[in-house]
Amino acid sequence: MTAESTVDLSGDSARRTVRVGLGARSYDIVIGPGLLGEMGPLAAQAAPGAKCAIVTDKTVAGLHLDALSAGLAPEFPVAGSITVAPGEASKCFTELERICGELLDLGIERGDVVVALGGGVVGDLAGFAAAILRRGVRFIQVPTTLLAQVDSSVGGKTGINAPQGKNLLGAFHQPSLVLADTLVLKTLPERQFRAGYAEVVKYALLGDAEFFSWLDSNKREVFAGGGALIEAVETSCRAKAAIVEADEREQGKRALLNLGHTFGHALEAFAGYSDRLLHGEAIAIGMALAFTFSGELDLCPSQERDRAIAHLTDVGLPVRIADIPGEKPGKDALMALIAQDKKVKAGTPAFILTHGIGKAFIEPAVATEKLENFLSRMCDIK
Ligand code: NAD
Repeated sequence: MTAESTVDLSGDSARRTVRVGLGARSYDIVIGPGLLGEMGPLAAQAAPGAKCAIVTDKTVAGLHLDALSAGLAPEFPVAGSITVAPGEASKCFTELERICGELLDLGIERGDVVVALGGGVVGDLAGFAAAILRRGVRFIQVPTTLLAQVDSSVGGKTGINAPQGKNLLGAFHQPSLVLADTLVLKTLPERQFRAGYAEVVKYALLGDAEFFSWLDSNKREVFAGGGALIEAVETSCRAKAAIVEADEREQGKRALLNLGHTFGHALEAFAGYSDRLLHGEAIAIGMALAFTFSGELDLCPSQERDRAIAHLTDVGLPVRIADIPGEKPGKDALMALIAQDKKVKAGTPAFILTHGIGKAFIEPAVATEKLENFLSRMCDIK
């Protein structure tokens, strides 16, 4: 996990490829500006002789579907497109059923391809549809949010939500190709971009101190787009690819990607997975809490904790429970939500804690009493 911080990326022609090495399921992540218009040859190379159907959401369709359709033709025929409503509510059985039906009606066969054009919602939903359609067809991710470009489009986790909880139904199904066009991020609302940036910082905080220093020096340039953004997306994808290669099905090391997520998921659930607190914002607070908790357990030096939190604050991300707009959770509500976390085994929550920037580790059993004391104090900060 090293950041190539010396590479000059001032030219807009920069295109990067990150290979995810998973044997027969290996694939490329291609990153660069303007890829949407050049997708046909790349897609045809990944799935020769196939046709495709595009799944997208209404907002993204209005902004980028025409460019993608034009970019795919004539090398990669498009049988049609399917549009869902934007937002988390689309990750449900009803939409999954509709999409599968429409894919069959469009004549998508075993050798064809589903193209997911959108953020993590579309990627998870379309990817799951591809995983079950005709017992599995290939799919290509065209992520259009920063979060999707650096995180959800890579690694093969697909799925929908159940009434009982988020992402409880799904499948591991790796894409055949990921095409991250960094120019499409120009239309992304700044708040969404910032939330996605939290996942970029996550890779630095969990395992790459050099990348963290680079982000600290280049954060403004990353937000401005251009070469620094491409660099940040590439380094993040390399980090995720390395972890997924080592542990595709999250039996061990992949859990490190959950830095900030045990606290973050509880906060997100408390806020009702609504616009009140975006996923990346919840993860930013979660990472700040993970560093603070690690500091209190004498695991993480206070200067490292302060540097991590200052970086998140500088870019405008929330870092305290008090930063959540509206009603704040109390300790008991958070403890109850943490107990429902997927990482809880036999009632004991596993946490990703840290020895400092770039030094996260998996702590399989955190003492409930210490956690309760910590959360009580964090919830009391105004
Ligand atoms: P999202 O897909 O809901 O997109 C956020 C909003 O931005 C939507 O309103 C969308 O219409 C809009 N949008 C997308 N691209 C745009 C663009 N280029 N210009 C303007 N608007 C645009 O949210 P997200 O943050 O991308 O993804 C969140 C989802 O990802 C959650 O469901 C989460 O569970 C999932 N996720 C999955 C993984 C994984 O490994 N599979 C990892 C992290 C998150």
